[in-house]
Amino acid sequence: MLERTRDGKSKTVLVAGGAGFVGSHLCDLLLGQGHRVICLDNYLTGTQANVRPLENHPSFASIEADICEPLRIDERVDQIYNLACAASPPHYQADPVHTMMTCVVGTRNLLAVAERDQASFLQASTSEIYGEPEAHPQVEDYRGNVNCTGPRACYDEGKRAAEALCFDVLREGRVDARVARIFNTYGPRMRADDGRIVSNLIVQALSGKPLTVYGTGQQTRSFCYVSDLVAGLTALMEVDPNPRLPVNLGNPEEFTILELAERVADMVQTSSALEFRPLPTDDPTRRRPDVTRARTLLGWAPKVGLATGLDATIGWFAATLRDTHDYGRAPATRRTEPAGAAR
Ligand code: NAD
Ligand code: UDP
Repeated sequence: MLERTRDGKSKTVLVAGGAGFVGSHLCDLLLGQGHRVICLDNYLTGTQANVRPLENHPSFASIEADICEPLRIDERVDQIYNLACAASPPHYQADPVHTMMTCVVGTRNLLAVAERDQASFLQASTSEIYGEPEAHPQVEDYRGNVNCTGPRACYDEGKRAAEALCFDVLREGRVDARVARIFNTYGPRMRADDGRIVSNLIVQALSGKPLTVYGTGQQTRSFCYVSDLVAGLTALMEVDPNPRLPVNLGNPEEFTILELAERVADMVQTSSALEFRPLPTDDPTRRRPDVTRARTLLGWAPKVGLATGLDATIGWFAATLRDTHDYGRAPATRRTEPAGAAR
């Protein structure tokens, strides 16, 4: 039997960025819960392959559109998830102005649809809004330490502005907006050329290439498996009443990048050497979510540990790289090829 929402009704859900890594897992989950899902994407970093298995599902529809442009959504929607935005540093820095416009103008355009339909709205924000954090672990009340003129600012400041827009329309009583601050998430359907650490290391290890470590590798991140994240996103969308506060979603287990590289090398059983490269500008030194708020308000906690999540992700990449299809293709950047993707 299909599970439905807390109130037992099937809803029409717009997932902006639905052809991306996280978005496609969210589409799967929502369809499995019995909802109608409209995936909206411009395929900048997402792929048709991610949603191809859904194409014949009677409750699935897709729209190719850029959220920076005026949106035409003919159907009335009940919920909107805004996941549309390149998330990997080399990809979001490839066209920084478009990234900023996606966060600000794009979020404004989607909020207008939510206001029209009186739909609930969930913004995919990010741990990047904490910048180089002086507080550790990061609690939601920490206001962050972002360099507003650096190469990461298009994303970090764009996402901060998007949060501000969401809380403004919420305070004005115009949209039931919710904000999830997502920490590093990984899993199947990341692109081989995504450029983020987990996919880079796995692709490099599987293809016998050196594992690239930026800086000393002593910087830390906390890695959340994608099924845990999408469960958290839907819990935040469904919780009643609206918490009216940003909520961290991530796995609090913290690892250095060197520890992660060693673990991937062990699991893939590769003899690949480590290759140290310069640390990118403004790369945060440490990151770990305090998820007390998510536990308390949503009853949510991550369930998948790093070993299990990496095992599933390595298995998926191994199978995908063996087959020839879309996942490994060159990135669909708008202006320049991103530097830093796995080579
Ligand atoms: P992704 O790059 O795989 O997905 C982003 C999707 O948005 C892609 O399908 C892309 O084509 C689409 N998109 C980008 N710009 C668009 C635009 N202007 N109009 C329409 N579609 C557009 O990234 P992801 O990892 O799946 O991230 C999804 C969301 O979650 C992003 O908003 C990201 O900022 C947020 N997030 C992700 C992580 C993570 O670790 N995965 C961490 C923090 C926040
Ligand atoms: N990183 C690395 N090698 C890579 C890719 C990334 O050492 O091939 C580092 C990067 O400098 C950062 C961490 O891994 O310190 C996480 O990078 P990612 O791009 O995955 O996410 P973010 O920096 O946005 O947290």
